[in-house]
Amino acid sequence: MLAIESSCDDSSVCLINRQPGNTKLIDHETESLDSSAVGGIVPTDAKTHHQGHIAPLVQRMLHRNGLQKVDLVCATRGPGMMGSLSAGFNVAKGLSVAWNVPMVGVHHMLGHLLTPRFFSNGESPEYPFISLLVSGGHTMLVLSKGILDHQVLANTVDIAIGDMLDKCAREMGLKGNMLGKELEKLTQVDTQIPADFPEDLKFPNPLYNQHGRVNVPAFSFAPFISAVKRASKVHFNDQLDKIPHEAKVEFGRQIQGAIFHHLTTKVLLAMNQAHDRDDIDLEKPLDFVASGGVASNQTLRQTLGESLPKSLRYHFPDPKWCTDNALMIGWAGIELWEQARIHTDLAALNKAKWPIDQILSLDCWISRD
Ligand code: AMP
Ligand code: ZN
Repeated sequence: MLAIESSCDDSSVCLINRQPGNTKLIDHETESLDSSAVGGIVPTDAKTHHQGHIAPLVQRMLHRNGLQKVDLVCATRGPGMMGSLSAGFNVAKGLSVAWNVPMVGVHHMLGHLLTPRFFSNGESPEYPFISLLVSGGHTMLVLSKGILDHQVLANTVDIAIGDMLDKCAREMGLKGNMLGKELEKLTQVDTQIPADFPEDLKFPNPLYNQHGRVNVPAFSFAPFISAVKRASKVHFNDQLDKIPHEAKVEFGRQIQGAIFHHLTTKVLLAMNQAHDRDDIDLEKPLDFVASGGVASNQTLRQTLGESLPKSLRYHFPDPKWCTDNALMIGWAGIELWEQARIHTDLAALNKAKWPIDQILSLDCWISRD
């Protein structure tokens, strides 16, 4: 099986050998667009990046592994940036025509949430399980009861958590391609809190029972950047990038902590509400997957473990498989092909927005039965 992921800024290709009882990743390669100089992903640059990289990645991988063709082609159909998606999806369509093999158009978030199942050959986690998908483009808590049965328990009302971590890190003068990761690195430095560090830095906990709203099962990250800008102005003379290193580390810890605190309070609230509706039983063991780029953050993993019910069994994919990759698309494609017994008609178009609870509502699915 050959899989292609190109929903955002990573061109990723892999080969998987699927045999009953034994699934092996044969090869995997990713070429990421470097946006560090631009300060954010420019959609047209991402599309051009994929157009220039995906076909050569596929060609090199097939040559390297002495393969002329495969039995199944999988590619991300959505959600994501249209230009990026179409660059990978159209290569997959071409290969499907040339090799006369079926293609599966995969839902990107399905890929993230099924990732741990690849590493257990489809055995664990078993349904039902919960997934926290935290990335540069998404923040959602999902209850999965089957390959095609997903319920969104909480979603962001504005931007994604990774996007906000990146914005805050940029405001603090951090440099790099994955600013959320740079922020984590900064906070891991072992320093003392400076004696003159302001005590009253105020970071918000958005949607927290105010303005008449009570127990809203949703995330909101947009207010954090205003708080960072306000703190920068009030306490640091708008020179956050020039403050002493120890102060920057402490500032980073506090902002990252506030963002993760908001995330975990809302996860807990949404899970308790699902428990009260009898959708889940928090008194029994329940599998909990945390995936997407932000899920590789060690502080977040620890905060989740400390704040959520003790009955949860955590699945944290290796950081390499938390960020966008072709393995997750390949595995989700295999599960769609084998369990849901569906594949995708070549007339299928990409979808920028595609709710995870409506996988089958898109056109162009073909049943194998
Ligand atoms: P994805 O959209 O899944 O490719 O993930 C990319 C997002 O994850 C970006 O916003 C990154 O800044 C963020 N990210 C990656 N690694 C980390 C980390 N260790 N801590 C926090 N955020 C991270
Ligand atoms: Zn992703």
